Formats: sequence, structure tokens, C-alpha cells
Amino acid sequence: MNREDEYGFEKIIEVYDQKTGMQGVCVIHNTARGPGKGGMRMVPDVTKEEVMGLARAMTWKNAMADLPFGGAKSGIRADPRKMTPLQKEDIMRAFARKIKDVIPGEYIAGPDMNTTEKEMAQFADECGTMKACTGKPACVGGLPHELGSTGFGVAISTKVAVKHMGKDLNGMTVAIEGFGNVGTFAMKFLEEYGAKVVAVSDSKGTIYEKTGLKYADLMKIKAEKGTVTAAKGEKLDAAKLFELPVDILIPGARPDVIHKGNVEHVKAKIVSEAANLPAKYEIEQVLMKKGVVVLPDFVANAGGVISSYCETMGWDSKTMFKVVEDKIATNTKIMLEQAKEHDTRKAAMEIAKGRVREAMEMRGWWRK
Ligand code: NAD
Repeated sequence: MNREDEYGFEKIIEVYDQKTGMQGVCVIHNTARGPGKGGMRMVPDVTKEEVMGLARAMTWKNAMADLPFGGAKSGIRADPRKMTPLQKEDIMRAFARKIKDVIPGEYIAGPDMNTTEKEMAQFADECGTMKACTGKPACVGGLPHELGSTGFGVAISTKVAVKHMGKDLNGMTVAIEGFGNVGTFAMKFLEEYGAKVVAVSDSKGTIYEKTGLKYADLMKIKAEKGTVTAAKGEKLDAAKLFELPVDILIPGARPDVIHKGNVEHVKAKIVSEAANLPAKYEIEQVLMKKGVVVLPDFVANAGGVISSYCETMGWDSKTMFKVVEDKIATNTKIMLEQAKEHDTRKAAMEIAKGRVREAMEMRGWWRK
């Protein structure tokens, strides 16, 4: 049985396709606010339990972003490195056929690990509706991830937090971990808002320049030399980034980068979590107790899911940026106002659960 608590899980669909050997699972946690929305990952060691945890997290993320979506997630157990493109397509199409009955009423898919806009187009094609998933190519009505909605949302959430603290972002120093999709756009927009990005890292290390780094220069250097560490400045280990004397720290690449070994050395006053789970809750609590404003991942990096919602509505990129800005700014503000003793994650979870509960009550799924 799938019951965990009052919220879910609603459905766990485990599938196997004899012809292609495809094995997968689609977990629908809660659909009180709308169809469960969450990505599809294709990895060789994915488990049902992992997908359940991710589906549950999507319920809270989508509710906190105030989207008419519930929470869901899918996992396909396969190793794309050992497949030809046609074999990968066969696996995607087999998965689509097996879970078609719940699409798009109960589940709307999206890209995740090892699935891209190409797989989304194939998945939607096999389901017979472009509403089956988001993250599709622009030529079939998609809003590509390359527009930078997530990094933009991180910059907006940070700007709101700075204002809430009664400070001015202009001239504030920033360190950003990771210079991929999220990190590059977070830098671009924070620079536009007047912040001074002094450190950026990638897998080769950190570049630290007290006088400030420029987004356009770093993009050029990354494209030419393959690493931001080729820029002018002091070259440090990647892990040193978290200990630099900056106002704002943006973990934007890997999980658990702030941990018990370095949390006491974090000097930033704001930690904007662009990556997923860059610190465990007990580590975040150490920061909060020191008065650091932590913008939790599911609040700060919700720009991507908000863009997905805009894609399902058929809106263009200009409208999408406006919706991301409005929703992230409003939700960050509500969270900061409700947070007691700086515990922003607890406040955000209470808001998200309250919204899901309200929808459940309205639909008669939750009786007082
Ligand atoms: P990406 O693959 O585009 O970029 C990752 C970056 O991290 C690369 O620049 C890489 O060089 C860098 N990196 C790798 N190892 C590193 C290390 N040891 N130190 C410093 N940098 C390192 O990924 P992305 O899409 O930017 O996603 C980053 C994080 O944000 C992930 O946790 C992801 O789950 C999360 N996230 C992304 C989105 C999105 O829309 N892209 C949405 C929500 C959350």
C-alpha cells in the first residue's frame, strides 16, 4: 500500500516492457492542486524510493511556487551511455505507452537527468498530446531551459531578501558555485541589478577577484578555455568558494557543499540555494542560528517549474519572465515575513502544506 500520510502517495505505477526491456516507475504523490508535475530521469540505478522522495518534494515545490500543479516524478532504469539514440527513443516511447492513461490529467512530465528536449518531443508524440510534458523544443511550442528561468528566479529571490533586510543590492559582493545553466544566469541578472560578483567556481576550481568579475568576460573565457579559472584573479580550490568574505553565497552546482566541516567558516549573510539540497536542514539551521538568511532551494530555484507552467499555458518567453518574477518575489516575501528565528525552510514548508491542505479541503479530500 502506498499511504504515507494524509497527503500521499496517490499512485505508484511500476512498469516493464518485454519488447525493449524498459523498466520504470511513475510516482504521483498528490494532485489536489492540479496534475502532478515532475521530471523524468533515466539512470541505471534509480529506485522507487528515490522517485517517491522526489515526487513528494515536487508537491511542496509546486505549491510553494503557487502553481496549479501537484507533485509527481518518474524514473526509468537504463544507462543512456550504453545505448544508441534509437534505443533511447524506443525506451522513452515504451515508457510513454505504459503510463499514457494518467497523462496529462494526473501527470505532466518534464526533463531531468539524462532526458532533454529531444526526449520530451518523443514522449509527447507517443502520448499523442503536446500537453504530456514540458521542456519541449521551441519548434513544438516549448519554452527551452536555455532561456535561464531558474537563474533569473534565484536573482529575484536574492534581490527580495536583500530588500527585506533593509539593505541595497548595489555593490554587494557575491560568490557563485557552478557556471552552468543556473550559475551563469544568476550572475547575469545579479550583475544587472548592481551586485558585484567576486568569485565563481566550476569543476576546475574557483576564481576570486576582489575588484569584481564581469559576466560577459567569464562567458567568453569559459567558451574559449573551458574553465572560469582562466580569468584574471586569484585561483583557489573549488571548495574555498564557500568560505570567502562575501555578502551573498550562491551554491549552484552540487548537493551537500555546505556541511559540518565548513559551515562555521561561511561568512555570507545570505545563502541563496540555486542547486538542489546544497545543505542538509540541520546545517541550514546552524546558518539560521547565526542570523544568515537562507533562501531554501525549493523557493529560490523554482523558476524552472514556473516556466513549465507557462509552457503548459502556451505563453511566450516575455510573459514567462514576468510570471517567474511575480511568483518568486511574492513567495520569497511571504516566507521571509512568516519565518520565525530565521527558519525560512520551516516557514516555506508550512505555507506549501497549507496550500495543499486548502485544496484538499475544498475538494472534500480532507475532513476536519
Ligand atoms: P549544469 O550542468 O548546467 O551546470 C553545472 C555546473 O556545475 C557546471 O558549470 C560545472 O562545471 C559545475 N561544477 C561541477 N562540479 C563542480 C565543482 N566541484 N565545483 C564547482 N562547480 C562544479 O547544471 P544546472 O542546470 O546549472 O544545475 C545546477 C544545479 O541546480 C543542480 O543541483 C540542479 O539540480 C539545480 N537546478 C537546476 C534547475 C535548472 O532549471 N537548470 C532547476 C532547479 C534546480
